[in-house]
Amino acid sequence: MQDIKELTLEELKKALKNWGADEFRARQIFAWIYKKGAGDFMQMSDLPLDLRERLKENFYLFGLKLIQAFKSHDGTKKFLFALKDANSIEAVTIPTEKRITGCISTQAGCKFKCSFCASGALGFKRNLTSAEMLEEILFLKNNSPQKKTTHIVFMGIGEPLDNYINVMKAIRIINSRLGLNIGARRITISTNGIIPGIKRLSQEDLQIELSISLHAADEKTRARIMPINKIYPLKDLISTCREYIRKTNRQITFEYILIKGVNSDLQNARKLSTILKDLNCKVNLIPANTIKEYKIEPPKHSEVLVFKNLLLKQGINVTLRKPRGQDIEAACGQLRLRYEKK
Ligand code: SF4
Repeated sequence: MQDIKELTLEELKKALKNWGADEFRARQIFAWIYKKGAGDFMQMSDLPLDLRERLKENFYLFGLKLIQAFKSHDGTKKFLFALKDANSIEAVTIPTEKRITGCISTQAGCKFKCSFCASGALGFKRNLTSAEMLEEILFLKNNSPQKKTTHIVFMGIGEPLDNYINVMKAIRIINSRLGLNIGARRITISTNGIIPGIKRLSQEDLQIELSISLHAADEKTRARIMPINKIYPLKDLISTCREYIRKTNRQITFEYILIKGVNSDLQNARKLSTILKDLNCKVNLIPANTIKEYKIEPPKHSEVLVFKNLLLKQGINVTLRKPRGQDIEAACGQLRLRYEKK
């Protein structure tokens, strides 16, 4: 049995043609899955009964099993799912006044072992399929009060550019008019800085947003908290970003987690402003979520403001991300870590 969401519209048309069914049925099936939130093939009432039965014999619609759901006082909802092979992943909905953002996982576990992130603690298990990623979004959408997700960020467990083909396949369906119909500019890939992936992305015909987890402004600190820096050093990463901006004419967002005693003092702010000078970019400062096991704490709010103001004075476009879902362990991978350690 195959997950039907693995198929693109063209692949579904082909499968239907092989069965002797009309190709236009593929559009109807897509609409049932991605727009009407069908939970069962039998609900697809404008398809002939024999086609619905055949679909049911050959495909399944949903493979994720919800294990736990948490709701923060700020409206953020976090879900822990078991995959068909019993690995687990997380997905989060973050509602704000103007948008409902779905944050999804791209891998079960992660190989990259960033020191501030729980996702890599249990190692890497496997890549998610495009169907599993689409299902995370469908779940978030179908379970939101407005039955809507306006923005998607590939920022959950895993490194999206380490699962490039499946992520791009999912993005094509998220973006397509007959799929989830979410505009490319509302889709963000967040990477730890895999240089070949960034180069490849610059050649795609998609106007998606790119966000880079920078988190340090010198090689030594970055290598200490993000081991990927030993493979793709900061200097090469910044020049790749420069090239990406030149080629795509698009702005990059740099994410910078402020961790007390590690990267949050004035000296680090100065270094950051130097390396980002002249780049068409935005910096998103994120006070770290406290993770006791990892001895991670945010700096004082006053220190955060000093850091931010220095960047502003240097002409850098900077925002301070409001902490979300702190009461439900919204930091990436925390829930999964507790569940799998049990
Ligand atoms: S921050 Fe991203 S790349 Fe680093 S360990 Fe966590 S999920 Fe992996």
